Amino acid sequence: MLPQQCLLCAAPAVSQPLCADCYARLPWLTTARCPQCALPTHDGRVCGACLAHQPRFDGVSAAFAYAWPLAPLIHHYKYAGNLALAWLLAHALAAQVNGAVDLIIPMPLAPQRLRSRGFNQALEIARVVSRLTAIPLAATACRRVRDSTPQALLPWNERAKNIRGAFVCDADLRGMRVAVIDDVMTTGATLNEIARNLRKAGAVEIQGWMVARTLPR
Ligand SMILES: [Zn+2]
Ligand SMILES: [Zn+2]
Repeated sequence: MLPQQCLLCAAPAVSQPLCADCYARLPWLTTARCPQCALPTHDGRVCGACLAHQPRFDGVSAAFAYAWPLAPLIHHYKYAGNLALAWLLAHALAAQVNGAVDLIIPMPLAPQRLRSRGFNQALEIARVVSRLTAIPLAATACRRVRDSTPQALLPWNERAKNIRGAFVCDADLRGMRVAVIDDVMTTGATLNEIARNLRKAGAVEIQGWMVARTLPR
């Protein structure tokens, strides 16, 4: 076995892509937060935004804030295809979720992006979370049927419109509690849109299991 180097500080990292110190110093989301969308709230109650516009999903769990140095690590995972990072991120996520769902569904990637990237970053994380939690994975329950402008390139207020109609969920999910896994949740527009389709397919509860949550500045 070759000794590995920590991706962040180059110290020896025996079995992980990060050394223990860098792993501990990741921006873990530990504060009280809205149970519905995972934004920090001072008392852990539902936030004003969720009260004003009820999301179509029932709750969100997130392991990290999408902040340094997690953001460049996720970027590295997605664009360099470092699957050791999928393992690390999935372990962190699995430790955060309550597991009371029947099915795990990875956020589908737009077909064009899947072709250019070669893998779906959410699916690779979902595979590991499924193994760790023993919850079945439904890798093809939902499909992304339309390429749209990447959400990251749009202002927040245009994202809901951009993602509308992007998914088809044609599995029979009647009575199912499902968790949708993705790497980063920003406005929740994508999760909200897939939740609309999951509801139509019969799902009775929809959780978002997100590796990282973008926090307001
Ligand atoms: Zn390190
Ligand atoms: Zn909220």
